[in-house]
Amino acid sequence: MSASPLVQIQPLSQSGYEQLACGYGYRATHVHGVGRAGSIWADLGQEAHRLISEYINHLVETRQPTDYDFFDALVTGASPEALDGLDRVREALVIDSEKVFGTEQYIGLDKDFSLVAMEQVEHGHRTGGDPRIEYEGTLDLILLHSATEAEIPDWKNHFYIAAPESFQSKFYPLLLFCAMPSLEIVHFRLEYLRWGVNRVVTFTREDLPRLKRMAIAARKRQRRLIELDKEPKATPHKGCAYCPLSLNGCPIDKSNPYAKLSAKERLRLQIYLDAAAKVNQAILKEWAQKQVISVKDENGVTYTGSFVPRQRTRYALDTVLPVVDAWDREHPDDPLRSRLAVGASELNELAKAKKKRPGLADALGSIVVTNDNTAIKYGSGSVSTLVRNVPIVNTLEVSPSCC
Ligand code: SF4
Repeated sequence: MSASPLVQIQPLSQSGYEQLACGYGYRATHVHGVGRAGSIWADLGQEAHRLISEYINHLVETRQPTDYDFFDALVTGASPEALDGLDRVREALVIDSEKVFGTEQYIGLDKDFSLVAMEQVEHGHRTGGDPRIEYEGTLDLILLHSATEAEIPDWKNHFYIAAPESFQSKFYPLLLFCAMPSLEIVHFRLEYLRWGVNRVVTFTREDLPRLKRMAIAARKRQRRLIELDKEPKATPHKGCAYCPLSLNGCPIDKSNPYAKLSAKERLRLQIYLDAAAKVNQAILKEWAQKQVISVKDENGVTYTGSFVPRQRTRYALDTVLPVVDAWDREHPDDPLRSRLAVGASELNELAKAKKKRPGLADALGSIVVTNDNTAIKYGSGSVSTLVRNVPIVNTLEVSPSCC
């Protein structure tokens, strides 16, 4: 692939940032004009975003917190996969129309982070560019709690509940701080539609310098990649699934772990590996009961399989509480008690004996603290029942991590 000397550098956006992970793939799309593949999940996300935006606009216009009839009519005909998450939106979305600044708000900033454009767009894309714009993004929704405090909810139809530590979770608050100089606090809230769970990160205007540094660094990287006069190395990453070269043209297609096997083939392989590991470990354990097993690899490194002593440490509750209380008294700035929790598995085990401990399970059930999350699971059966059984709960406050 040869280099193109004159290319208009697109503004830095959240999706563009993700593509930067592989310089070769980035240049294929943004320098050499190879079209990017769409994906069913991206289409579903856009469909859900469009419907939610239309619903919120209706609530604001009619000054209602909810309108289930309108919602039901709106989603009639939506694809079943999109409906999975939209079920939750119907129940969970209650709008205070006084607080809605706007949906699908495009923000474009120049190289000095000064506002060039802020307007509502359809389907997340602005038609027509402005060469001054260097940083851009479309915010699903902006809520203004006051002249100094705003919130950006962002809808996700992903299966994985991620903490708000992504580039986007910092970049969108940066765009909003720059577009609205009166703001002192911006909350960025990821709304995981199919689970009814959200994750929040909060920034203050004091964070602005480091958010700008993060964006400037990414912009520099983007510019450097565009201006290269030879192709950089290809770096496999999760974005390979959407890369137009993954099927034809990836220079490392023979060794790219993302291109070697399809998602279905990966699952089959994992199921096989799990089963094989289980059988192997059981047999190995039997051998190791009587002898130490060791092998040497071609580099001379010895690997050993054997039983070794292991100590499990625990603290008895009635002896640890006085220690914690004493600590709290002596260190009022670092109270421990409110940060400690008792693991559920031990208590649940004791509560199972319902005759011996009547009422214990109910008492524990009334005080249990849950934190919905996701974990990868390989097994038989469908995920849809699980999706529907997760309660709509919790806001997890997370401090912004360093850029
Ligand atoms: S498929 Fe190849 S070129 Fe495309 S992003 Fe992956 S590693 Fe890069």
